[in-house]
Amino acid sequence: MNSESQQQAQLRQLPGVNTLLEDMAGDVAALGHARVKQALRDHLSKLRKAIRSGETPKICAETIKAQVITALASLPTSNLMPVFNLTGIVLHSNLGRANLSASAIAAVQAVAQGASNLEFDLTTGKRGDREADIEAIICELTGAEAATVVNNNAAAVLLALNTLAMGHEVPVSRGELVEIGGSFRVPDIMARAGCALREVGTTNRTHLTDYESAIGKNTALLMKVHSSNYRIEGFTATPTEGALADLAADYKIPFMIDLGSGNLIDFKVLGLPEEPTVAHTLQNGADLVTFSGDKLLGGPQAGLIAGRADLIAQLKVNPLKRALRLDKMTLAALIETLKLYRHPEQLHKTLPTLRLITRDLTEIRTQAESLRPHFIEALGSAYHVDVGDALSQIGSGSLPVETLPSAALTIRASSGEDSDLRTLHQALRQLPKPVIGRLHDGALRLDIRCLETHESLGLIDQLSELRL
Ligand SMILES: *Cc1c(COP(=O)(O)O)cnc(C)c1O
Repeated sequence: MNSESQQQAQLRQLPGVNTLLEDMAGDVAALGHARVKQALRDHLSKLRKAIRSGETPKICAETIKAQVITALASLPTSNLMPVFNLTGIVLHSNLGRANLSASAIAAVQAVAQGASNLEFDLTTGKRGDREADIEAIICELTGAEAATVVNNNAAAVLLALNTLAMGHEVPVSRGELVEIGGSFRVPDIMARAGCALREVGTTNRTHLTDYESAIGKNTALLMKVHSSNYRIEGFTATPTEGALADLAADYKIPFMIDLGSGNLIDFKVLGLPEEPTVAHTLQNGADLVTFSGDKLLGGPQAGLIAGRADLIAQLKVNPLKRALRLDKMTLAALIETLKLYRHPEQLHKTLPTLRLITRDLTEIRTQAESLRPHFIEALGSAYHVDVGDALSQIGSGSLPVETLPSAALTIRASSGEDSDLRTLHQALRQLPKPVIGRLHDGALRLDIRCLETHESLGLIDQLSELRL
């Protein structure tokens, strides 16, 4: 036979998808009909390709089925799953930002499980307001007249600008046209909100007169954006919030501040660098303040807007508000997170974000030391494991230039090859609960700050499954 007819004969031998599926009822029930069918199709098309390129794979229906099932069954059962964040970045945007408190998690579970009084007034038996409780506690903690909540801070800025400035101009300092993580850019959000950005001042210096000369009859509001993830240092100038508030009041336009990472407490109490609080920003004369729920606040993804009652009322009736509203689980988590702020002196214990940020260095180092022998045993002679100094970061654009002294398992390859470190990092990411560290300076660093003491055991237990 020539190779052409040999190939044709082989191709004819391939079983059809439906034939293969016939006696696979058990696998289909376990793995899903569409998934198994697609996997069989993909496998058959691979075999066809191999045959056409001159290979002569063994064709056996039982082997095909077994291979497809093994491949499907070895895929992770869940695509969104917990990982160990050993990057040293407490609020890591790619790893889900803030860890929720125990009370917030319990509240999420309770409302997820069954019916709740989400929009039902238990006193009157009539329809209730889904935001009544959350608004009350935001006002209590910030001193604001009114408040509302949306899906995230990007949505908060979008809603505020769209409500108050659509079709109008908004002056913003050139030093504040920030980009947060690639997808949130102040100029882009403004365009989508339907308002025109009027750039004022320069990158490093913007004066009150720059704002004043930009204000015209088409100006809807003044906006200030907190430079979350960068600092401009040196020869700089920016008007105070109070001066901008007075200017806005003179022209009878609102003054809005996008704070980014919202903070509700005096950070000095926790030994941390100062960060403006929402209450203080409102006292300085801001009419509206927007901030995130899952940055320093330590709650679920959400955007909070606090300020003047007449402005909040306008935001609430914008049809976009309905599209951006919070679901019951987020509302439950946010309320419970905010309740913890009634006892700020306890936050370093009750709120995971602040607990991790304020962790005692000696405690972190002791924990790293206790992990070291287990890593030495699991990694063998191909790697050196030490405990070294590390610098954690808060992350998510919060206090970007501050670092927190920490301790890390510092792993070096005996070969000195970076490729061996990458292999190890890859293997750590394949563990049942993937371990995410940081490759830096010829070492893989596993910063122990975000591994709470009770989680050490879970990490150690799975090291025996490491496949290098
Ligand atoms: C983080 C941030 C945002 C976006 O907030 P999300 O809650 O992530 O949508 C907007 N503005 C500033 C200044 C920020 O720091």
